[in-house]
Amino acid sequence: MAELIFKNKVAIVTGAARGIGRAIALGLAREGAKIAFNYQKSDVEAKSLLEEIEKIGSQGLSFKGDVRDLDLAKEFVEQVKSFFGQLDFLVNNAGITRDKALMNMEKLEWQEVIDTNLTGYFNMSRSVIVTLLKQKSGGIVNISSISGISGIARQVNYSASKAGIIGMTKALAKEVAPYNIRVNCVAPGFIETDMTGAMKDEVKEKSKGAIPVGRFGKAEEIANVVSFLLSDKSNYITGQVIKVDGGLHTAY
Ligand code: NAP
Repeated sequence: MAELIFKNKVAIVTGAARGIGRAIALGLAREGAKIAFNYQKSDVEAKSLLEEIEKIGSQGLSFKGDVRDLDLAKEFVEQVKSFFGQLDFLVNNAGITRDKALMNMEKLEWQEVIDTNLTGYFNMSRSVIVTLLKQKSGGIVNISSISGISGIARQVNYSASKAGIIGMTKALAKEVAPYNIRVNCVAPGFIETDMTGAMKDEVKEKSKGAIPVGRFGKAEEIANVVSFLLSDKSNYITGQVIKVDGGLHTAY
């Protein structure tokens, strides 16, 4: 039997109780990685994720904590290091939307999205980076969005946060490449999760019409690309943004 590609590796996945993060956590666990994940509210889903990780034959650590809080991010990373004795990968995934036309958008709706989607990624990256630099190995994958590349109406907050993630990915990739650490970005199109589940049916149908493959993506289709970007198969890829969107970007 082929050796599991992430055997003896430890990965942190943020916002993994549901949706894309959950699929990423399970994808990495199936390839042998031990998984530490955080979430904000979904206790039941977090417990079932831990059970699924253990059923796969891997080990998991669950942490209930808001990525917007730098102290909590640091505490989470310290717990991961003392529990597993090591840390190799970070997947920044936890994200939210607060969609509204700019003319109706409150400062709070701007701030919550920037604080979670952008500052949350800073908080987690800042908390892991010294460990990765010292060991001269590791990888970070940031989940951005097609919204951060093309801009989507009624998402100025979300598009700004997701574009910021792309800039952050490229800057950090340059900074840490000499230390054998790679930093990449995945930009999903429309993926079937609770986030898109909240869209109105007519908006969903219109969006599907713009996707060349004619359907929303599955969370596992994002997870597969994250696994590739953290694996040695992508050793010469860093600072890259990979669109996983069924061809949607060609429509913009
Ligand atoms: P989702 O189903 O709404 O799940 C989001 C996850 O993030 C949940 O587990 C949630 O925790 C967690 N989270 C939210 N705010 C948090 C915070 N402050 N601290 C810690 N955890 C927090 O979303 P998704 O669709 O899987 O999206 C995952 C990522 O992909 C996001 O960055 C999103 O922007 C991006 N993305 C999604 C799509 C799409 O079509 N779905 C497209 C492009 C990009 P709780 O469960 O506890 O609430």
